Amino acid sequence: MSYVRDFLGWAKEKNPNEPEFLQAVTEVAETLEPVFERHPEWAEDRVLERLSEPERAVSFRVSWLDDSQRVRVNRGYRVQFSSAIGPYKGGMRFHPTVNLSVLKFLGFEQIFKNSLTGQAIGGGKGGSDFDPKGKSESEVMRFCQALMCELWRHLGPDTDVPAGDIGVGSREVGFMYGMDKKLRNAWTGVFTGKDPASGGSLIRPEATGYGVVYFASEMMEAHGESLEGKRCVVSGSGNVAQYTVEKLIEIGAKPVTMSDSGGFIHDPDGITREKLDWVKELKNERRGRISEYAEKYKGMEYTETGGDSGVTGPWELECYGVFPCATQNELDEKSAKRMVESGVRLVAEGANMPSTNEAIKVMQDAGVLFGPAKAANAGGVAVSALEMAQNSQRQAWTREVVDARLQDIMKRIFGACCEAAEKYGKKEDYLSGANIAGFEKVAQAMRFQGVL
Ligand code: NDP
Repeated sequence: MSYVRDFLGWAKEKNPNEPEFLQAVTEVAETLEPVFERHPEWAEDRVLERLSEPERAVSFRVSWLDDSQRVRVNRGYRVQFSSAIGPYKGGMRFHPTVNLSVLKFLGFEQIFKNSLTGQAIGGGKGGSDFDPKGKSESEVMRFCQALMCELWRHLGPDTDVPAGDIGVGSREVGFMYGMDKKLRNAWTGVFTGKDPASGGSLIRPEATGYGVVYFASEMMEAHGESLEGKRCVVSGSGNVAQYTVEKLIEIGAKPVTMSDSGGFIHDPDGITREKLDWVKELKNERRGRISEYAEKYKGMEYTETGGDSGVTGPWELECYGVFPCATQNELDEKSAKRMVESGVRLVAEGANMPSTNEAIKVMQDAGVLFGPAKAANAGGVAVSALEMAQNSQRQAWTREVVDARLQDIMKRIFGACCEAAEKYGKKEDYLSGANIAGFEKVAQAMRFQGVL
């Protein structure tokens, strides 16, 4: 029995009710088979067992008062997965679907993603089942402050530095960071994704989406191709989707869709800068629905997703590039087969684990260029680490400096994926390359530090 198969059996027994976590663990472990053949010492160290068990996971009550003075109770979490190569680093997610399985999958992925950036950041993730949708600004603030009354004691600039994720944007980061600063009585910059006036880095809001397009462009360039003039399908309309669309427009590609949990819009002529600005205002200020796009701009199609429709996203449209930027498992095997039939060339994952493992196999078998999330969307956390560096130096870098660093980091990540894939005879398998390159550094650090 191979070490990896042995480990996966163990992980399934240990985490029987955590399907998302097991999915992420399986995807990584299966690509590491050749690594353990070459490095039996890492198998002896039980590196996978140790890496798949968080160093610490806290779950806590968050009680707060809504606007009608009713007491509300939510559950808060922080999963501190691995500090082998740096302080725990990973976002906070506020969404009703948040549970330990979801946060463990995100935290586990984060270990390898953060390692790939080449920066000194470990893996963590947190969040709450709180739903910011439909809440007033003061309710969101009271909730964030209540959550921080517990969370702050687990954080620190050299211990754990959270950021945003689904449902946590600049507004929520501001409220959490403010409360942390008050309780700690110290300006530590312990969140990233802050407003620049509070020590945030320029380009951080743009970084994940821009990084996805930089990574996709690297994949294209390596094959002598380009995204210019090509129809691209994007899902989501939040932070990552908005800046993916923005960069696609900037490089001359043609993004034609955006979505939210209600459905997607299709703009056959391509979403323009002006329309994207309108979407930003709709989503970030008015907190409206993407369906309003089809009311505002005549001739657009809006398709509802979910329910009995059987439609899960904009995956049936003919296109060249696909950028899933909403949420996990939004792209399944059936959708992948349809995409392949319609001739998709490239998939770059903006969201975390947006493709099921079966969908990935369909795409890779068909020769679609596949940029896995932990590499393609690492630009966000990479610029977060640059924000930490600026905070500790009490400096603020210009947009140009940060964007140049981001581009350089995405180039290096692509290079690291290619090199690791080639080293193990898996040329152009960027998924294996990302997992192997991310893993090797962490495994080496763990061996150096002894059994902990
Ligand atoms: P936002 O909250 O800004 O946007 C999320 C978008 O996804 C919204 O359009 C939302 O629609 C949609 N969405 C959320 N849940 C579902 C669902 N269950 N079904 C369909 N649509 C859904 O989050 P981000 O843009 O920050 O994050 C998007 C993805 O990118 C996540 O997977 C996140 O983990 C990942 N990511 C984010 C990074 C960042 O820097 N922000 C960094 C790296 C990865 P609705 O408004 O209707 O809920």
